[in-house]
Amino acid sequence: MTTGQHQVVIIGSGPAGWTAALYTARANLKPIVFEGASPNLPGGQLMWTSEVENFPGFPHGIKGPEMMAKFKEQAERFGTVARQENIATVDLSKRPFTLVTESGETLTTDSLIIATGATAKLLGLPKEMELMSSGAGVSACATCDGAFYKGEELVVVGGGDSAMEEAGFLTRFASKVTLVHRRDTFRASRIMLERAQENPKIHFMTNQIPLEIVSERKKVGMFEKDWLTGLRVKHAITGEETVIPAGGLFVAIGHRPNTQLFTGLLDTDETGYLITEGRSTKTKIPGVFACGDAQDSYYRQAITAAGTGCMAAIDAERFLAGH
Ligand code: NAP
Repeated sequence: MTTGQHQVVIIGSGPAGWTAALYTARANLKPIVFEGASPNLPGGQLMWTSEVENFPGFPHGIKGPEMMAKFKEQAERFGTVARQENIATVDLSKRPFTLVTESGETLTTDSLIIATGATAKLLGLPKEMELMSSGAGVSACATCDGAFYKGEELVVVGGGDSAMEEAGFLTRFASKVTLVHRRDTFRASRIMLERAQENPKIHFMTNQIPLEIVSERKKVGMFEKDWLTGLRVKHAITGEETVIPAGGLFVAIGHRPNTQLFTGLLDTDETGYLITEGRSTKTKIPGVFACGDAQDSYYRQAITAAGTGCMAAIDAERFLAGH
């Protein structure tokens, strides 16, 4: 039974949420994890990642969804209760905090760990999600997936610092990176833009609007599936259409932290990331902690999210011990 009064409630079920659950469960705090429900599907961004090769402990890599299932299993082993539901409203004005689920259930908790993550912005083109989740040429994370594209011609979409950084990183693997931007001026900082412009492997195409993800059926191993072969773009001024051939497409048009539930209740930066105190996960409300990508716009890795999830659990445990 999860109604009633709890010691720790965790919202979010990515690496940060499950790590916070594992630690608080092992501290006998009987955490409840609200995993999310459609449209916020449980498991976070790793559910859209095919192969994860940069999480230590998996020497041969692991599929993102499989890794999240293991995180969950490990947290449940110590008594974590997982609920596939969204929290609709929170009242943080007094302790215990009150949470109401989308189905109308009310519960209270002495501490709250926010691990709601962030969502990569996508172009919204047909096949984008499908090819991303099947690891067939579309990605929103060069650090995660760049190494799969050795010797390939790649496309990066975006005109901000992320696009410049990802394009530069991808030149370690790619034979050529075409950076596609919808305008001819850039949001990226001058230094990042210049670094990309000076990189002989990066070719700029400006005033180009992404129109269509081009793919074809290919047999890889035992399976036949759709693979990206290029990106069709349209010139913003002349209207001319071009297909840029590519073995991989990296969408780098920003992220959106999933923090709308806390608007006006907790401090955020100008883009919505939750602000925490110093090196801790403490928000401005004692007993409310934030971890993972909802609080980190900079590193955004599964391993760093898991690390801050652990920090939030320790912060919550110490808070509860002192109250
Ligand atoms: P951003 O600055 O918001 O830039 C997003 C880019 O994507 C913009 O150029 C935008 O075009 C383009 N875009 C947005 N929607 C699009 C769409 N539907 N189709 C095509 N293009 C689209 O995001 P970011 O680059 O992720 O940076 C976010 C923050 O993190 C920034 O403050 C940045 O400085 C920081 N950051 C810093 C570093 C670093 O210092 N190492 C690295 C990465 C990020 P328009 O310009 O036309 O709107």
